[in-house]
Amino acid sequence: MAAWFKIPLWQRVVAALLLGVLTGWLWGPGAASIKIVGDVFVAFIKMLVVPLIFFSLVAGVASIGDLRKLGSVGWRALLLFVVTGQIAVWLGLLLGTVVQPGVGVDTSMIEMGAVPQPNETTWRDMLLGMVPQSPVQVMADVNVLPLIVFSMLIGIGILMAKGEGEPVLKIFDSGSIVMQKVTMVVMELTPFGVFALMAWVAGTLGLGALAALGKLVFLNYLGCLLIIGVMYSAMIKFIARLPVVDFFRGIIDAIAVSYSTASSNATLPVTLRCAERNLGISNSVASFVISLGATINMNGTAMYLGLATLFGAQIFGVDLSWGDYVLISILGTLGAVGAAGIPGAGLIMMALVFGAVGVPLETIAFVAGVDRIMDMMRTTTNVSGDAAVATTVASLTNEIDRAEMISADDV
Ligand code: ASP
Repeated sequence: MAAWFKIPLWQRVVAALLLGVLTGWLWGPGAASIKIVGDVFVAFIKMLVVPLIFFSLVAGVASIGDLRKLGSVGWRALLLFVVTGQIAVWLGLLLGTVVQPGVGVDTSMIEMGAVPQPNETTWRDMLLGMVPQSPVQVMADVNVLPLIVFSMLIGIGILMAKGEGEPVLKIFDSGSIVMQKVTMVVMELTPFGVFALMAWVAGTLGLGALAALGKLVFLNYLGCLLIIGVMYSAMIKFIARLPVVDFFRGIIDAIAVSYSTASSNATLPVTLRCAERNLGISNSVASFVISLGATINMNGTAMYLGLATLFGAQIFGVDLSWGDYVLISILGTLGAVGAAGIPGAGLIMMALVFGAVGVPLETIAFVAGVDRIMDMMRTTTNVSGDAAVATTVASLTNEIDRAEMISADDV
């Protein structure tokens, strides 16, 4: 038992991931019977999301000290979210144009999945949805965006109340520490959850569909790896001016959890913990940038939306003009912002982009069978992006403890 805890958590998690794939591969579809272990793990981390954001963000905003600083963190984060999102969609469009994954696909080999209902939300609904009309309802629904708005307002209120806000601030400060400890306990379940989820995916993967859609899956992985390996690495090295290897070592738990759960939301507590504990990012910047990023910063999803639209256009022989490319790039970024941090959210958002440029929605049914395997990589890209932006913003605003990042050897 003691020997188990002596092994650093990230090593146990990586080993579980590899063992899970092996087990699923040997066991086959029967591996689905242990998925429940993964579901229990995901349910436990989901339990953390609301109290963790609430306590940590209120304490974080209040500890920033003045509103100007909050603004300087906020605009930098938003700018990075938008720029990286745009680069990501254009990368997807480039890969789709050069490699042409949809040309010559044998569609009879593919088992059709369900076509999800297009999302009919307008920008008016989205705007209204950000207002935490009933804070309790927002928490009960685990609605992250309005929860962030509510937590920030409470934090600002504490700042404005000065001395009289002190007792409330104390509650949030201590609550945020308590939540970090609870996260630590739940994190001990990670190796088991990751093992079970990986065994399930590897055991139940439709190999026929994978062969037919191989090029698309390959390009999805290539695009995501380019975003992580080139764009994020460059951001850490040249803008944040920090060691790239230490950055990735610090977020390895978040990488493993995002890959196996395919959910940015469920990974949020882990990403936060990595950012604060392993990367040395201050609680205020980490909680603000990462909570916000988990819902709106999805570069893997943005890249995929660009790529998948071209794929659909190629299968069905739809001609796209330059104007369509620009439209895809705008809608792809918006779709990524609007996608919830849950498994399969990108699949639903495809309807938004496809409809605008005349690509048949049946494309969604074609790719549905292998979406999970692509979703896992997209989510890892999304989550790594949140950590990369948080690290860069923290470095630019002096909210990072460089020594801690470099010496974090007990991750
Ligand atoms: N599952 C992804 C996420 O949670 C979203 C997507 O489907 O692309 O980040």
